[in-house]
Amino acid sequence: MKRIVFLIGFFLLSVVCNCQDFNKYFIDKTLRVNYLHIGNSDLDSISLADFYAGGRWNGTRSHLVEKNRLGDVLVEVFDSLSNVLIFSRSYSCLFNEYRTTERALLETAAFEESVNIPFPKSSVKIAFTSFDRKHKAQKLYEGYFNPETTVYKQFVKEYKTVDLHIGGSSDTCIDILFLPDGYSLDDKKLMKNDLKRFASYIMKCSPYKEYKNRVNIRAVKAYSPQSGITDPNQGVFKQTILNTSYNTIDVDRYLMCLNVWKMHDIADDAPYDMLVILANSPKYGGGGIYNFYATVNNHHTNSDYVVVHELGHLIAGLADEYYTSEVSVTDYYPEGVEPVEPNVTTLVDFDSKWKNMLDVKTPVPTPTTENYANVLGVYEGGGYVAEGVYRPWLHCTMKEIRYDAFCPVCSKALIDAFLYFSK
Ligand SMILES: [Zn+2]
Repeated sequence: MKRIVFLIGFFLLSVVCNCQDFNKYFIDKTLRVNYLHIGNSDLDSISLADFYAGGRWNGTRSHLVEKNRLGDVLVEVFDSLSNVLIFSRSYSCLFNEYRTTERALLETAAFEESVNIPFPKSSVKIAFTSFDRKHKAQKLYEGYFNPETTVYKQFVKEYKTVDLHIGGSSDTCIDILFLPDGYSLDDKKLMKNDLKRFASYIMKCSPYKEYKNRVNIRAVKAYSPQSGITDPNQGVFKQTILNTSYNTIDVDRYLMCLNVWKMHDIADDAPYDMLVILANSPKYGGGGIYNFYATVNNHHTNSDYVVVHELGHLIAGLADEYYTSEVSVTDYYPEGVEPVEPNVTTLVDFDSKWKNMLDVKTPVPTPTTENYANVLGVYEGGGYVAEGVYRPWLHCTMKEIRYDAFCPVCSKALIDAFLYFSK
């Protein structure tokens, strides 16, 4: 989740392609790379599993190389012959959250991950680089894909899909895809109503509603063998299509899916840029990881807030603006380092954040008193810590349970993400 890229040497050796190069290097088809992210608190490595291909290329064609790294794993694709950088995208992952746990001090674990890239016309080099919280880079993997010689499997269409909000073609919109989990065939009506309800929570919230022509929402109608969601601490174990479970990485309300390959396998029945698992469970839970996936449970008094908050993490890489958490997050934002997330700052490089959006009369830092409510400022406390990290707004949707209250900085980051997916 850190942005400053220390790959200067890397860029000197390679050339970055221009937006008009999509047709030069790619065909209109998706290549999915499946791999295991393996390690512990010390070790970080990637082991390739397999390639899948099919469908159309649904992502951006005009922003093939990411300008600002928001995720902590950077995927880069180079033309093998010329070494031109022809595609890059970053994401964050559950594995890196696992690495911060006590368990990771003792146990090595493997987490499934996948990335979609446009299908190359000729041989490409695929590189994975990991960045720590101080933005230090570590190369994890480098390998080749040659469409003529590398073995790959084909996408297989298995499920019906349903349109929940269509703002335009998938080429000009961000495509959000709901994947229901824990809905059996007996829950057909419930699934239909829940999907409609959650899509409307998104579309009635700013800035989604103002950008309704830039957003598509669909769902895959995939039913689970059993109704409900696995909750190990309660002794509840369910057979569900995605095996979403509470107590992920030993945090009771952390409701996540470890079967990431299967998740993409089910998802590729529809165009998608962002995946949201809708879990059929009354227990509050959820999570959202930048450009990875988000989860929400279907029954909660604040479901409207939860879904747009988690989508903030997923789509725009937004930080939590609160500073109390059941998760131990010491040193999450190291001193002297500017975070990559657009909505928090340590003031180390505030110029790269919302400084140009501030009124000149607003003091920096800004007093956290209610007379500054609804004033864009620089308020101390955010990103899980009370001191040294600053947020832009007193009461944003990324800070507290407030639906439809994204601050101007978070709204702008979401809009930037919508536009990123425009052709
Ligand atoms: Zn905000």
